[in-house]
Amino acid sequence: MADLTLSPQRDAPAVSDGGVWLSCIECGHDHPPFEDIIYTCEECGGLLEARYETYPTFEDFEGHGVWRYDAALPFEEGVTLPEGATPLHRVPRLESEVGVEALRIKHEGMNPTGSFKDRGMTVGVRVAQELGVGRLACASTGNTSAALAAYGTRADLETLVLLPAGKVAAGKIAQASLHNARILEVDGNFDACLDIVQDLADRGEAYLLNSLNPFRLEGQKTIGLEILESFRDDYGRFPDRIVLPVGNAGNTAALYKCFRELVASGALEADAVPKLTGVQASGAAPMVEAVEEDLEDTRRWEDVETIATAIRIGNPVNAPKALPGIRETGGTAVAVDDDEITDAQRSLAAEGVGVEPASAASVAGLRKLRERGVVDDDEHVVCLTTGHLLKDPDAAAAAGNDPEPVANSTEAVLSHLAE
Ligand SMILES: *Cc1c(COP(=O)(O)O)cnc(C)c1O
Ligand SMILES: [Zn+2]
Repeated sequence: MADLTLSPQRDAPAVSDGGVWLSCIECGHDHPPFEDIIYTCEECGGLLEARYETYPTFEDFEGHGVWRYDAALPFEEGVTLPEGATPLHRVPRLESEVGVEALRIKHEGMNPTGSFKDRGMTVGVRVAQELGVGRLACASTGNTSAALAAYGTRADLETLVLLPAGKVAAGKIAQASLHNARILEVDGNFDACLDIVQDLADRGEAYLLNSLNPFRLEGQKTIGLEILESFRDDYGRFPDRIVLPVGNAGNTAALYKCFRELVASGALEADAVPKLTGVQASGAAPMVEAVEEDLEDTRRWEDVETIATAIRIGNPVNAPKALPGIRETGGTAVAVDDDEITDAQRSLAAEGVGVEPASAASVAGLRKLRERGVVDDDEHVVCLTTGHLLKDPDAAAAAGNDPEPVANSTEAVLSHLAE
């Protein structure tokens, strides 16, 4: 396995603020964290990541939810609803059907607005307060807009969301709308929305809270910390593999960073790091293509389509952070068809775990990798389910049983049941 430490390890640079700074993943240039509003490297345009003078071990964590992990975050508290502390479901039937030693489902749909985006927003909005910005904005396939709207309004900040017209699930628009966001429906896909929001941010019109913002990923690291802690409590060891849906690859990058920081602090052995395994829909799979063809970065897919609208993304901005994570942990990436996604959504629902289509991609991908023999039968696996069933009621209703009309009497119901 490749080197998993944050390199080079050294003392905080002069630009650090309270032991935190931003470092370019391409050229290593350091930037002050809360002075100017920046999203990418001023020298080379590369992606930035937050760095800390010290990295915590498991003993440093105390409390509940995302802010339990403040020792791994840039602040001790933030605007909270509260988020995190999501369940790690047992799914015994699915476990034996897939045929692995252990299978658990980390259900991120149980966050306050129904997706893991809340973990990133609680930290991102805290940083926005620190910077003193007036307007928050994001492009979104839906869930980011719901989270931004809720956390933004809670912090009493104006929020603007750009959505691809006609391609956002009903529950998500309803949330953004009721939580007071100004919603702009763009005649284009998610990637086009992100291009526009990035332009707005560069012109100083809004503070960008897509996962290009390095602080969002800091909050999302806590998914990894929770998985490792809960798994160790239940099995006395860490999982061999974490399987997750991939859109912009923010979560993949965040989990990789989580592991590197734990390796840096000595809390995790490099050979115990779970294999990061990304799943995309066949109609939107630039990350899978990049892994299969061993590319440095993804090729932008102009036309993307899938029932899993949350991962209907052709240009994953965090690919340069996520691809090394998949490679260095010995993981892989796989594409699944929409009908495989729907099957997995039904299987999860049959265990009482209700997820939206993009979330079910993780289970569909695990199934496929077991069939191909890529995942062994002795593995301990965690699948991440990223969003709640109610996010996309239309997809759920289409995948589920149809309601049966009956007349208004007990006799009619009984005779219908006897048919
Ligand atoms: C945002 C989102 C994803 C994609 O996550 P990335 O970090 O962009 O890869 C997957 N599923 C759901 C439900 C989401 O909301
Ligand atoms: Zn740079």
